[in-house]
Amino acid sequence: MSRKVDIGSISIGGDSPIAVQTMYDIPLSQLEEGFEARMHVLKGMGCDIIRFSYPHIAEHDVLCKVVDLCPMPVVADIHFDWRNAMDAMDCKVAKIRINPGNIGAKWKTQEIVKKAKDMGIAIRIGLNSGSLPKTERNISMSELMVDTALEYISWFEELGFYNTVVSLKASDSQTSYEAARLFASKSDYPLHLGVTEAGGVVPSCVRTTWTLGRLLSQGIGSTIRYSITGSIENEVYAGVELLRTLGLRNGGVRIVSCPMCGRKSFDSQGFLKDVEASLLATGKNVTVAIMGCQVNGPGEAKGADLAVTGIGSKVYLYRNGEICKEVEASKAKDELLRAVEEFER
Ligand code: SF4
Repeated sequence: MSRKVDIGSISIGGDSPIAVQTMYDIPLSQLEEGFEARMHVLKGMGCDIIRFSYPHIAEHDVLCKVVDLCPMPVVADIHFDWRNAMDAMDCKVAKIRINPGNIGAKWKTQEIVKKAKDMGIAIRIGLNSGSLPKTERNISMSELMVDTALEYISWFEELGFYNTVVSLKASDSQTSYEAARLFASKSDYPLHLGVTEAGGVVPSCVRTTWTLGRLLSQGIGSTIRYSITGSIENEVYAGVELLRTLGLRNGGVRIVSCPMCGRKSFDSQGFLKDVEASLLATGKNVTVAIMGCQVNGPGEAKGADLAVTGIGSKVYLYRNGEICKEVEASKAKDELLRAVEEFER
């Protein structure tokens, strides 16, 4: 079992549940309207930690505001300038992510570590295959990543700092897999798992699920991130689904939907697209089926708590397999969301 590390209000590693995280997709300088509401939606979907790129101390006030508004621990992602890490910690972020290899002289990383130790802030040593020190040794990329991480860990331990998380990411999923396995055989620091630059929704979900699923099944990994060229909501959704599929997370909204076929009398695809984010954000412990026809839909959705299908302009809502309501299509989304909110086991 890995050692436990505190990330603000949550812990990872040890016997803690595997945490899902994502990274905000907009520069802090352009913080969007509705930011706080979006963070709460992400939290409802199952996001445990969120990371923000912090490239310049000019955004100090925005970062402090973000820490105040986010309902989950905030991580500042720092590259190159150690002073940005020092500044971010003044905003009381829960964790700093650095690659000591691009921070420069060792003393700069040590200054970050000393301050993090004083303030009880965690640090992730985030190594990517594209930014490793050069070596004359004839070793594989995964070995180089692990050796480099262990070297940086020794710098931290020299200062009595142990609140460390490690990530070893490559865009090649096999290298990510081998690096994580090798690291876990040599160290008990918790691992943040991911496949970097994994691509759009389909390639990322396939590569990341294949890689992380095998590692998590072996008990390796304490926190996960899907890196998707797409929405961060999908990153969280994919992470939570993987954990649920592996039996590592319970609860939350589980959506069952049919692929549709020539028998369809209801646009289950369009309805799902419209309602999916709101459904997930409820965070309720409920299984909802969205089916394309009344012929096979209810039967196929038997295991669901609530189900929806329709004919023409009529939509039928089922509870525990029985029709409980018939509504106009235009009201179906609101009716389903109300039924989910009211649902009790
Ligand atoms: S529920 Fe109906 S529309 Fe959907 S796949 Fe089954 S038979 Fe086809």
